[in-house]
Amino acid sequence: LDPVEFKRQGYMIIDFLSDYYARFHEYPVLSQVEPGYLARHLSSSAPREGEPLENLLEGVTKFIIPGLTHWQSPGFFGYFPSSLSAASVLGESLSAGFSVVSFNWQSAPAATELEHLVMDWLARAMGLPEHFLFSGSGGGVILGSTCEAIVCTLVAVRDKVLAERGRISLEKLVVYCSDQTHCSLQKAARIVGINPNNVRVLRTTMETAMGLSPTLLRETIEADVDSGHIPLYLCATIGTTSTTAVDPVLPLCKIAKEYGIWVHVDAAYAGATLICPEYRGFAAGIEFANSFSFNAHKWFLCPPVGCCCLWVKDREAFTRSLSMEADYLRNAPSDSKRVIDYKDWQIPLGRRFNSLRVWLVLSSYGIEGLQNHIRNHVRLAKIFEGLVEEDERFKVVSPRYFALVCFRLLHPCLAKRANGHATENGQSVSNIRCAERGHSFSNGHAGDKVHSVSNGHSGKSCYSTSNGHTAANSHA
Ligand code: PLP
Repeated sequence: LDPVEFKRQGYMIIDFLSDYYARFHEYPVLSQVEPGYLARHLSSSAPREGEPLENLLEGVTKFIIPGLTHWQSPGFFGYFPSSLSAASVLGESLSAGFSVVSFNWQSAPAATELEHLVMDWLARAMGLPEHFLFSGSGGGVILGSTCEAIVCTLVAVRDKVLAERGRISLEKLVVYCSDQTHCSLQKAARIVGINPNNVRVLRTTMETAMGLSPTLLRETIEADVDSGHIPLYLCATIGTTSTTAVDPVLPLCKIAKEYGIWVHVDAAYAGATLICPEYRGFAAGIEFANSFSFNAHKWFLCPPVGCCCLWVKDREAFTRSLSMEADYLRNAPSDSKRVIDYKDWQIPLGRRFNSLRVWLVLSSYGIEGLQNHIRNHVRLAKIFEGLVEEDERFKVVSPRYFALVCFRLLHPCLAKRANGHATENGQSVSNIRCAERGHSFSNGHAGDKVHSVSNGHSGKSCYSTSNGHTAANSHA
């Protein structure tokens, strides 16, 4: 790597991205390309000779940008937010620039110790119980995704139970969730060898505001125990994907404790709000959970994707199944047991310098800056919710706890008129979803009668955007 050339090209990339950020609101939020478009523009084999970056950036402008769905656009309301910050992008650049591989302490002491420190900072800032910290019995790690967090915690409890109970069949192990739990739980269960028939997907209703019913959980567990099954793991959610429903963590944990069930709390989206004390009531009972995770790349200004913060209560139990040994990895600090080797907290061996962006975001915004960010999104969502409630064409269909407003059009004929509710200052309200008349909410999986949608992902939905763009119904 030539430092002089790196500097020249680096400035070009920063200039290029700055121009993109200044203009992305001009593009249609949803890419207009057809499948396979890129092959028509780019050669089918790699070039024999290298080309200058200037030419390649022209190609990015011509061929890549049209194929982007602009997640950072103020008109983007799809899925959950991916709120980019300069601190996060620059933190990622620093991480890429150093390119250390931090599988154990010795391979990258600063990467290991910064992650350790930042995870304790965050846990304190979010009011998590002391036992989730390294100063307690637990600790935190930055993984790529919630799905990985669930796989890793499931493996830990699976092996613990198999070790404790001797030779029992995997077929007996049962996992619990609700019909609102993210589908990553089902995938994770499959990966760790749980029989798909033993994933109990408990039905939620509007009566429990789409939260998991403790009574139903108890009844299901009792039936499982009676039939010789072994209750293993419960995934409770704070802020479900479809409606941001909140499972009642405290009563669920109490029941789980009676049966020795590991409780993982998935707060992929809404976990970010715990930085604000007024939202901590949603996590009441978290002290009884075994693990907790949230995606800092969603609403916590730490994109790009790949920044899932996981804390566990018992680091010994967690790392027992995930640790890996090899002669070439042995070293004195690891043998001394005085250091964290993050290879034992994840599936792969190698890992990036994950904590730099989180550290830069936390340090440059401060806790107050992050609180302002969350509160501002919620404030905007409340304004939007008020506008929807005032408008007789629409109905808010589930409680708004955070910055997601779920609403539906009351009469499809009025769809065309459903334009023009711009939010304050052209800023994006975190997320807006609209359900089609008569459709009930569930998990947004194909086949369910759900339109948990925003920017153009549903066939028959409409929504208003923050900057006056109307993205309504183009696919109807
Ligand atoms: N859990 C919840 C509540 C989510 O909303 C999502 C995705 O939006 C996920 C899990 C999946 O997260 P990941 O892509 O990090 O596995």
